[in-house]
Amino acid sequence: MTKEYGEVTAIDNLNLDIEEGEVFGFLGPNGAGKSTTINILLDFVTPTSGSATVLGSDPQKATRELHRRIGVLPEGYELYDRLSGRKHLAFAAETKGADDDPSELLERVGLDPDEGDRKVGGYSKGMKQRLALAAALVGDPDLLILDEPSAGLDPTGIQRMQELVRAEAERGTAVFFSSHILGQVEAVCDRVGVLNDGELVAVDSIEGLRDAFGSGTTLTIELDTIPDDALPTLPEIEGVAGYEINGTSLAVQCTTPRAKGEAISHVQTAGATALDIHIEEAGLDVLFNKLTATDEQRSDESVEEVVA
Ligand code: ADP
Ligand code: MG
Repeated sequence: MTKEYGEVTAIDNLNLDIEEGEVFGFLGPNGAGKSTTINILLDFVTPTSGSATVLGSDPQKATRELHRRIGVLPEGYELYDRLSGRKHLAFAAETKGADDDPSELLERVGLDPDEGDRKVGGYSKGMKQRLALAAALVGDPDLLILDEPSAGLDPTGIQRMQELVRAEAERGTAVFFSSHILGQVEAVCDRVGVLNDGELVAVDSIEGLRDAFGSGTTLTIELDTIPDDALPTLPEIEGVAGYEINGTSLAVQCTTPRAKGEAISHVQTAGATALDIHIEEAGLDVLFNKLTATDEQRSDESVEEVVA
């Protein structure tokens, strides 16, 4: 499907399938088109061309049925300052024709009963976010759509939200988890779709993405002396892509696990002693930055610095 706003193509020919019980991470920088996609899935926005299929139905045709089966934490949710958290949840249940117990929902998102009785006007951003998440859980949805669910949450809140997402998925709920923060998606998702500028630039598991882009590992060996004579032959080892020296530390780029051990024996055979070693997997953030770099940034040599 495609969505255009005048000259802006918010979504460009997007095609996605989310499976039952999976947590699908929808990752992309701000403005990539994540919220627009979610709004199409919910029929809040009509695609310019194409259509979406959600839980087997077309959101434009089965809107009411889908709204009953989907729980949403939207980006710009609205709460009523003068109503208590508990009231909000009771109201959400009534609207959906569900019989959820507000107390149980409050507990699931980590709001205590006293807080639930307070007016939402006095809530912190984090408490509001928890309440909105609780409202999304009303009616035991088959699909949970979360747009930037960690917004405003402190680390404890984020951890709790992540546990909740996994627990929901284990109950068979499909979760569509949209975020611009890689770490969030990495922590809970089975599969990830990377959206950039309205285009899906990758769909894979986290491991799959790592493999496909073969970012490799940096092995840093602290040595008593640098074995100068042995260094030129280091790249002859299969899986060693290059090396760098910094004082008495030797950083070796390895593309296979085996290469690490062989690089260590190579320098030890040459008479140096490894005092300490340190291994760093190439971060997915490097990959994410590559996938979502603008053309301008791509032609710039210091891409990582620009994006970071
Ligand atoms: P994300 O959620 O990934 O940050 P959005 O889906 O909100 O991205 O936005 C995608 C693009 O579409 C952006 O360029 C945004 O400015 C544009 N856009 C979104 N909603 C509208 C709208 N109602 N009218 C015009 N442009 C919009
Ligand atoms: Mg958004």
